[in-house]
Amino acid sequence: MKLLEDRIVKDGTVLSGDILKVDTFLNHQVDPQLMNLIGKEFKKLFDKNNITRILTVESSGIAPAVLTGLQMNVPVVFARKHKSVTMSDNAFVSDVYSYTKKVTNHISIDKRFINSDDNVLIIDDFLANGQAVHGLVDIIHQAKANVSGIGIVIEKSFQPGRKQLEKDGFNVKSLARIASLDNNKVTFVE
Ligand code: 5GP
Repeated sequence: MKLLEDRIVKDGTVLSGDILKVDTFLNHQVDPQLMNLIGKEFKKLFDKNNITRILTVESSGIAPAVLTGLQMNVPVVFARKHKSVTMSDNAFVSDVYSYTKKVTNHISIDKRFINSDDNVLIIDDFLANGQAVHGLVDIIHQAKANVSGIGIVIEKSFQPGRKQLEKDGFNVKSLARIASLDNNKVTFVE
């Protein structure tokens, strides 16, 4: 997605440890117009998959997931990283190691919000080592639902997440694919 790549080049900052900071439009401040175009793009990519529900993880996956849900007219569920007082104990839980925060979170989704007949589209902001997506896949499998596709806003293709997911047979589509962040410069996959 050319517009997204241009925005990454214009506004992104490369931090140490191969981290790309995009808090002006995705990870802190959110650009609703760009999220809307991202939602339209994901609809185009996954329109034929009979998606019934979108799953993401709080907090940075929520904006692109909701705008995709709006386009596809399906509900959006975000996994919680912390147990809320209002949440029942009736939840699917999985462990996710956070690459940026270096901690393990238990992500959970209330069992009312995913069914065995769901065709689920996973949406997330970044794909790096694939831990976050694997946690969601684990929850979808616990619910005996189907993973119909995985939509990623920014993929760091030099990290192993995508390769492993493809090896496991998943349909992964990323809107921007980064080949390298060497020398503080963003280079995209050709
Ligand atoms: P993974 O689980 O695939 O290793 O990492 C995915 C999660 O880590 C994303 O949901 C995102 O929150 C965070 N993440 C990984 N790499 C980056 C990065 O380069 N920049 C930012 N802003 N977040 C990242």
